Amino acid sequence: MEVIRATCAGACYGVERALKLVWQAIGDEQQCASAARPVFTLGPLIHNPQVVAELEDSGVHAVSSLDEIEQGILVIRSHGVPPLLIEQAKSKGLSVIDATCPHVSKLQQAAQDLHEQGYTVLIVGEVGHPEVEGIFAYAGEDALAVRTVDELPDKLPSEQIGVVVQTTKSQTTLAALVEELRRRGLDPLVKNTICLSTKQRQRAAEELAKRVDAMVVIGGKNSSNTTRLYEICRESCPQTFHVESAAELDPLWFIGVSNVGVTAGASTPEEQITAVISKLESYN
Ligand code: SF4
Repeated sequence: MEVIRATCAGACYGVERALKLVWQAIGDEQQCASAARPVFTLGPLIHNPQVVAELEDSGVHAVSSLDEIEQGILVIRSHGVPPLLIEQAKSKGLSVIDATCPHVSKLQQAAQDLHEQGYTVLIVGEVGHPEVEGIFAYAGEDALAVRTVDELPDKLPSEQIGVVVQTTKSQTTLAALVEELRRRGLDPLVKNTICLSTKQRQRAAEELAKRVDAMVVIGGKNSSNTTRLYEICRESCPQTFHVESAAELDPLWFIGVSNVGVTAGASTPEEQITAVISKLESYN
């Protein structure tokens, strides 16, 4: 069985940057003459359970609220947060390391600009996803978020609509929403804030899925961008499997398969990708 890796797959710039900042913070604290301060993240640093477990073993604790932290260092994840939260952390005396991905900062700025120009901001994204919750803080009170065109309400708060997109959404979803807004006679101002890493991974995954018998998508089950890759691959290749690690692979999935494609979400470290590829190659 031939194993083909997508031309672009795995950890993106924003995730690598966030991990680098956290490991740097742990290293700096260990070198302190006084006792090392604990390091916290609000929610898992990245959507990859194996990496989060490794961080926890090294003293990086994922908590769900600022109330759970008494003192130490708070690392803001690549998804970003509402600015008020950073203020609250600082006023509690916490040191803050901002690992918000620059692409997310750009998206937050785009939402704020549209709001200040008088637009009602329509966020194409997953309600409840931390990145989208952060964008709401910049987008004004009448902002709304929808995942797909089906969720677009019949009546919008105004006719002047500005659109921004969660960095990991697909181009197809954005295009469908814009088309529907135009069908309703609106002329939305669209800021396409899907990040380049996402576009490259989705394009490479789609191209590969079209020419193989089976696809394996590696990444956290709670990772939005990995789930999107899985959906994109499944459209062209029904035999698509989503795994978090090599341990989940089942040789029975590949009976009669002559070539298998491999892609991975933006939070998937290189070791997990190579482990999956090696195991697939061992099925020959
Ligand atoms: S997927 Fe894009 S926006 Fe999200 S962390 Fe990676 S580079 Fe940044």
